Amino acid sequence: MATAAKRYTTFNAHLRQLFGDRVYKVSVDAGFTCPNRDGAKGIGGCAYCYGNRTETSLIDIPTLQAFIRQGVVAVGRKYKASKFLIYFQSYSNTYAPVEQLAVLYRAALAEPGIVGMSIGTRPDCVADDVLDLLEELAQETYLWVEYGVQSVHDATLDRIKRGHSFAEFVNAVERTQQRRGINICAHVILGLPGETREQMLETARTLSRLGINGAKIHSAHIVKETEWERLYERGEYRPMELPEYVDTVCDFLEHLAPDIIVHRLIGDTLRIRYIAPAWCLDKNEALKAINAELERRDSWQGKLLER
Ligand code: SF4
Repeated sequence: MATAAKRYTTFNAHLRQLFGDRVYKVSVDAGFTCPNRDGAKGIGGCAYCYGNRTETSLIDIPTLQAFIRQGVVAVGRKYKASKFLIYFQSYSNTYAPVEQLAVLYRAALAEPGIVGMSIGTRPDCVADDVLDLLEELAQETYLWVEYGVQSVHDATLDRIKRGHSFAEFVNAVERTQQRRGINICAHVILGLPGETREQMLETARTLSRLGINGAKIHSAHIVKETEWERLYERGEYRPMELPEYVDTVCDFLEHLAPDIIVHRLIGDTLRIRYIAPAWCLDKNEALKAINAELERRDSWQGKLLER
């Protein structure tokens, strides 16, 4: 079983073990856009994405530093924390010339209290020179790259307009694994339009075989100004309600390798843009329900995974 307290390997527990303390993320929007927005791969973005920035215009370093310092003070006060990970979260955070990325990442890492960094991006957005840079940084700090993949099924990726294939994800993972010290997290969405439970479990098994280090699992949900909003309004798509999600995510965990660190089991949502389902807004209750279901099943991460 993953830990005595939890039936899956949590990111918080992992960080506590590594740093001897709780570590919190400070999120940064550094001004990137995304190839699925600026026309390189697409213009409308993924079907669930509400970001509408179409040009990369990186913030300058003093602005970045001020932003991080504000975040560190706010998060530090809220959680009485003194160690932080910088999380380049918004859009595709490797989508700029590598020289600019180097300056940006290094400036972020130089801020007081920062013990590591996590970079969210797309699998088709990491050229070799970017991976070389990440490898260099990984020798100096604790580093994650987070690839959005969402599903291992190309038909699903087409349906949600990701603009990349599963093979491109595998290629990014393999090239990242050839570098030293970079931890790889895959983002997955459960409840995507047209996906069966078995397909979702296939995603868990396939990611387990790939040997990634972490997974961030989100429940599909509807936000304003997205293609999904239109589908939802026309009654053509309904995301899962809580009981179905709990059942599905527990199945998913049972098929996920126990050494994959679970960064998240439910997505964070921006209330101002949020439409449905309502249960996603009460993350604590949903997590309680997931833990209770694992308990009821007497089950844990990887229990049903055959290797
Ligand atoms: S890859 Fe990310 S930023 Fe780009 S359109 Fe999709 S969800 Fe939005």
